[in-house]
Amino acid sequence: MKITFYGAAGGVTGTAYYCETGDARILIDCGMFQGGRGDERLNNSAPPVDYGRLDAIVLTHAHLDHCGRLPLAIRDGYRGPVYGTPATIELAALVLRDSLKVQTSDLEKLNRMLARSGKPAVKPPFDEEDVEGAIRQMKPMPYHKPFPVADGMEITVDEAGHILGSGSIKLTVDQDGQKRSVIFSGDLGASGMPIVRDPETFREADMVIMESTYGDRDHKPFEDTIEEAVGIIREALHSKGKILIPSFAIGRTQDLLYYLEQSFRKGGLPRFPIYIDSPMAIEATRIYMSHPELFDEEMKELVGSGELERDKGYIRPVASPEESKRLNEMAGPIMIIAGSGMCNAGRIRHHLRHNLWRPETSVLIVGYQAEGTLGRKLVDGARTVSIFGERVAVRAGIHKLGGFSAHAGQSDLLKWFNTLAPARPKVVLTHGEDKAREPLAKIIRNTYGLKPFLPQYGDSVEV
Ligand SMILES: [Zn+2]
Repeated sequence: MKITFYGAAGGVTGTAYYCETGDARILIDCGMFQGGRGDERLNNSAPPVDYGRLDAIVLTHAHLDHCGRLPLAIRDGYRGPVYGTPATIELAALVLRDSLKVQTSDLEKLNRMLARSGKPAVKPPFDEEDVEGAIRQMKPMPYHKPFPVADGMEITVDEAGHILGSGSIKLTVDQDGQKRSVIFSGDLGASGMPIVRDPETFREADMVIMESTYGDRDHKPFEDTIEEAVGIIREALHSKGKILIPSFAIGRTQDLLYYLEQSFRKGGLPRFPIYIDSPMAIEATRIYMSHPELFDEEMKELVGSGELERDKGYIRPVASPEESKRLNEMAGPIMIIAGSGMCNAGRIRHHLRHNLWRPETSVLIVGYQAEGTLGRKLVDGARTVSIFGERVAVRAGIHKLGGFSAHAGQSDLLKWFNTLAPARPKVVLTHGEDKAREPLAKIIRNTYGLKPFLPQYGDSVEV
């Protein structure tokens, strides 16, 4: 079998791995590239494979950088199944429909600009039909049961502990009676992450293709980050300010709600109103709550305690833009969780415009802020920022909380790999920048005497 890397090879986005034998061809993930102009160009083309002959696409989880190029595959003629766990399918549908909305609004802006300068309009790379086609072609795959996906190819999905429905995939290939197996880690969660189960480990494989997002470091412990957050929230409650949290709709928002619940229950934090000001986050939370079979023990206990029901009055979904605007007039202390996670779009920008200039406001930054985003400017200590063309003074407290990552840190990655190491598989490190995967490769070389391969876009390996 040959595996070719059409994304997440030296970067963390655009995951797409093409696996082919003489008899069968599948694609593991079909993700979108994010950030950087060169990457945007790659986004207009689906991974370069023959879609007429492709047998299956398998998703490790629903994040955009793992499923976002599916509509392009449909556009290019793919009509086969797209496998995902049931939760992945529901979340991926939400993610793809949202990505169409973002694309449409971005293109409208761009085309207005082009029209003014007398240039022709840009056509969207994919449309609603492609998105709905991708969703229609999704088929559920079970956890823990070997599952045939193509001639001589079988997969087994285990928990990856990253977001709801996420999986690591073992692909077993039978060629002329000879079996070979490859494990795709998918994105691995940090151990001890809330709601979802911890990643499961494997014992045997001929090859392992492993993520390395944080291959160079460990995160701060969750407990320290939560303690820090609770301290900031207590102060904000005291000064009756608003607490704004820019947050990603899937995964991070649900984790935050879980920590808040636990701090109410066990940490002595007084209850106060929390507004989820994002239709996408509300829907993602609903999907999360409809999959109790995927919860870890602590989450099961929390649900069993009945306190989530009791707290419904405190955690309030904000569906319409009108309701969202009404939050402006509301007095603190209240918390508003809104997207986008890096503040470059979405309702959070309205709340920042109305509240950044007030010293009693607290902004909690809980996720990665890419260069050039409004979130990054706040983290870097800007004194004023521009929002909707207006200069806004930053007098609010800006607090960066580093420990909420949904990715395994270096120690977790090594712990996951440790059970596989005795089988001496060939190791391939993907889904990490060189500055993260090179240090991890070095440790694996020194500890286990295995020399990892670090592919670039378009590189192949033979199993
Ligand atoms: Zn992910």
